[in-house]
Amino acid sequence: MTSLNRTPVIAGNWKMHKTIEEAVSFVKGLIPLIKDAQAKVYIAVPYTAIRPAADAAKSSPIMIGAQNMNDESEGAFTGEISANMLEDAGAQFVILGHSERRHLFNETTDFIHRKVKKAISENIQIIFCVGETEQEHKNRKTEEVLKKQLEESLGDISAEHMAAIILAYEPVWAIGSDHSDPPEKVQTIHRFCRQWISQKWGDETAQKVIIQYGGSVHPNDAKDFMEQSDVDGLLVGGASLTLKSFNQIIHY
Ligand code: PEP
Repeated sequence: MTSLNRTPVIAGNWKMHKTIEEAVSFVKGLIPLIKDAQAKVYIAVPYTAIRPAADAAKSSPIMIGAQNMNDESEGAFTGEISANMLEDAGAQFVILGHSERRHLFNETTDFIHRKVKKAISENIQIIFCVGETEQEHKNRKTEEVLKKQLEESLGDISAEHMAAIILAYEPVWAIGSDHSDPPEKVQTIHRFCRQWISQKWGDETAQKVIIQYGGSVHPNDAKDFMEQSDVDGLLVGGASLTLKSFNQIIHY
């Protein structure tokens, strides 16, 4: 179980799902269900639904955020969206470095690093994703890959900003695949990440960082992951799309 000093964070990542109407109806339906929840609840909605979902969540503890952003403030970047536009729409956090951005849209660690800097300067909380591919996993390169992703994108931020980041360990091969490592193995990777943070910024900072696990989490295994001492939350894709399964995960 997560440390008493860290409040668990369960986040949904809706990807390219849900119209405005569906998003608002989901948020309104979730509010009464999570009244007694111990965990904080975040939902990364499509851009079009940020404002209406944020309005629907206004008098509730639900945090509405975005799934991506650009590192520039404005300019000739067709199809992109900036941090201040997200804030203007009511986003309170942003997911950066998601494996679908890294692999389907060829985002480099350098680009992701610039986005991290921008989100920090705009005061938007970050859920920062790291994870190895199936091949890297088979070749036992997980720690090496994570260290590189962490170092290159977060290595130069302050301890104060590091403490506020939510780190999400998401093995690429586990996302949307219906299989993942056993919770005990996930715990060893989370411990590795916390130790890396501790070596760089000290244990006080490392103990504050929320480290989520993501990759085919379902209502039936959420508790097993959350029982691990360095698993402080979950980042959930598919199972966050229906009220029933997301609520079950929130109440693991
Ligand atoms: C994700 O996209 O961040 C994710 C974890 O997806 P899924 O839960 O569907 O594997």
